[in-house]
Amino acid sequence: YAAKAAGSQLMVYRAELDERADAAVRLGADLRHSLDDGDFRVVYQPIVELSSGRIEAVEALVRWHHPVRGPVSPADFVPIAEDNGLIVELGEFVMRTACRRFATWRRELGADAPRYVSVNVSARQLREPGFPDVVAGILAECGLEPAALLVEVTETALFGGGTAVHAVETLHRAGVLIALDDFGTGHSSLGLLRTVPVNVLKVDKSFVDEITAGGGRAVIVDALIHVSKGLGLRAVAEGVESAGQAVYLREIGYEYAQGFYFGRPVTEPDFVPLATTFA
Ligand code: C2E
Ligand code: MG
Ligand code: MG
Ligand code: MG
Repeated sequence: YAAKAAGSQLMVYRAELDERADAAVRLGADLRHSLDDGDFRVVYQPIVELSSGRIEAVEALVRWHHPVRGPVSPADFVPIAEDNGLIVELGEFVMRTACRRFATWRRELGADAPRYVSVNVSARQLREPGFPDVVAGILAECGLEPAALLVEVTETALFGGGTAVHAVETLHRAGVLIALDDFGTGHSSLGLLRTVPVNVLKVDKSFVDEITAGGGRAVIVDALIHVSKGLGLRAVAEGVESAGQAVYLREIGYEYAQGFYFGRPVTEPDFVPLATTFA
């Protein structure tokens, strides 16, 4: 009887899995239509210098307004776009949109403009032959020097070496800056920091969350600022939501941070690329 019950449980589970796979396939097909119909937008979130409140960099984040479902989170559709390969075209759209926008801010603001535009790039894009050339083409088209671009990659994307690491090396050689995103949560290996050229560590929000709003001690953010400084890298603390966290991070040596406390990701008319109130 128990075995029979377990068996039917398994069938329910199988059915759920099939449903989820179907939903992913449907969403994947919708992605294709939405790319053609222009249902994607790019929003921008500030990365702030903690000593001054100045916006050092701007991270571009993709948004999908599904024609029927409305907003769909990138956490839900980016993995699907990676699986079906559409991330290559979508990623190029994000890169071009963000670089153009950044070039415009520079023309408008001159020396007051943020210094970098930061764009997320997935493993699938890095493995695409000619990806570094596509990036170089976009930079040239926008009149930006390679050192104005930060490419955010995850440890997991680089795990195991291969083409993805090779692409990162090529970009780095061309002068593009490399950031390790969500640092500490992927296939983490500190050895990666010795074998892959990296300029910036983005310390994951889950570690920043350990700092209580009142500024209580957090072991991993403490340790990672030492790792980062010891290796001559710049560190950005992700997901800062309170003044207490920001103050704590500054006190232990973080120079840069990002999070809802400083600014949520917003569309370009709402983004003021100047300074935040934190200092
Ligand atoms: P990520 O690159 O680590 O981006 C940070 C995410 O955390 C963003 O979520 C941002 O809205 C959110 N965030 C920022 N500050 C805070 C905070 O203080 N509190 C909380 N709770 N959240 C905060 P979003 O935009 O939903 O993106 C999720 C992930 O999807 C990104 O994580 C990135 O891995 C991926 N993604 C987004 N845009 C792109 C893209 O254009 N290309 C690729 N390949 N991946 C993207
Ligand atoms: Mg990122
Ligand atoms: Mg991140
Ligand atoms: Mg993240």
